[in-house]
Amino acid sequence: MTAIYTKGVDRTMHEFHNETFLNAQRQLDYVAELMNLDAGIHERLRYPRKALIVSVPIKLDNGHTKVLAGYRVQHDQTLGPTKGGIRFHHEVNLGEVAALAMWMTWKCSLLNLPYGGAKGGVCCFPEEMSLNELERVARRYTTEILSIIGPEKDIPAPDMYTNEQIMAWIMDTYSNFVGYAVPGVVTGKPISVGGSMGRHEATGRGVAYTVKKALEKLKITTDTPTAAVQGFGNVGSISAKYLHQLGCKIIAVTDVQGGVYNPEGIDIPNLLAYVKERGTVVGFANCDKIENSELIALPVDILVPAALANVITKENADKVQCKILAEGANGPVTPEADEILNQKGIFVIPGILANSGGVVVSYFEWVQGLQHLFWSEEEVVQKLHFLLGKAFEEVYDVHTEKSVSPRTAAMIIGVGRVANAKMLRGLYP
Ligand code: GLU
Repeated sequence: MTAIYTKGVDRTMHEFHNETFLNAQRQLDYVAELMNLDAGIHERLRYPRKALIVSVPIKLDNGHTKVLAGYRVQHDQTLGPTKGGIRFHHEVNLGEVAALAMWMTWKCSLLNLPYGGAKGGVCCFPEEMSLNELERVARRYTTEILSIIGPEKDIPAPDMYTNEQIMAWIMDTYSNFVGYAVPGVVTGKPISVGGSMGRHEATGRGVAYTVKKALEKLKITTDTPTAAVQGFGNVGSISAKYLHQLGCKIIAVTDVQGGVYNPEGIDIPNLLAYVKERGTVVGFANCDKIENSELIALPVDILVPAALANVITKENADKVQCKILAEGANGPVTPEADEILNQKGIFVIPGILANSGGVVVSYFEWVQGLQHLFWSEEEVVQKLHFLLGKAFEEVYDVHTEKSVSPRTAAMIIGVGRVANAKMLRGLYP
């Protein structure tokens, strides 16, 4: 490692150093050693290429002005423009966004998408904001990062607490600046402004599809595998919907307000309708209450953490009893916890594969937008399953051939492709 050390402490770009970023770096360092990665390439991949911190001043509905912190981090541009979501959340910070950008690089590469990774976010409490305030945040944030985004540069998308409406405002703001409509600047848009069929469901659909593949590989042949889902936003709720359609019995789900449990299986179609009306799973019929800590420890076939990062740690990993853990969220399992889960023989489908359906269909949306040609939902789903299936098989092969965890296998492929392209392109100047 050629990092600059000061009294034994690595100070290189220490601005990014927080728990999540150091975890992402450790994952890279681990596979770099296994792969015997060129030291120079490894060094370059440990840090983001570009990071922008902006002030996002907004006028609140009560007349006061508040300055929020906004970030956009672009990790790597070797394979193409950068790609990744924008989150609105009160825990958003530079290190977290940088870690998420790095994971997007491996995710896009693993799925063979012509992108590098990026991520963005605004540190705020979106649940306490009005629609008008959210619009002002989205538009001002877009204006502040305008110079580094664009259909050929960096293409944002939804992430935690951002949605189709926010993507439409981003597209509109950018288009107003350049003077013509630019649908390709952002993905996850509403269908009527150039969105793709199947994008809304893509991440959850992909989670369920990778779980199906894992059930087949692990020869779990029961008709009704049991599942528990942590988080009931876009990813959690749609994962639950498709796992239910696959024939799984979902016995527990939680959201930010609480959780529900029924060992006989929760009525998922009715729960989805209930959440649409009430905004929470809490109080749903025929269920007992359950806490997140209890959900994680349930003896289920499938566990889907689809909420925040770092929820399965060395403190609780030992309690996890599932056979398959599908990372619906980005980074829900810390590296120490990952080791414990591996020792327990749990098949962890890493986020860069399990939740990659979102960016895969984002890529389809971008391609359709650039061509002004739109596909049917069947076409989108078929192409999504094709890419996910191919990546799953590649990961599974490396996992068995090299006797490494599925995460390490996925990283070896993802990092390997970027490293190979970096080697061929060389270091400028
Ligand atoms: N935010 C999503 C992710 O973490 C989607 C990114 C995208 O569609 O570009 O993968």
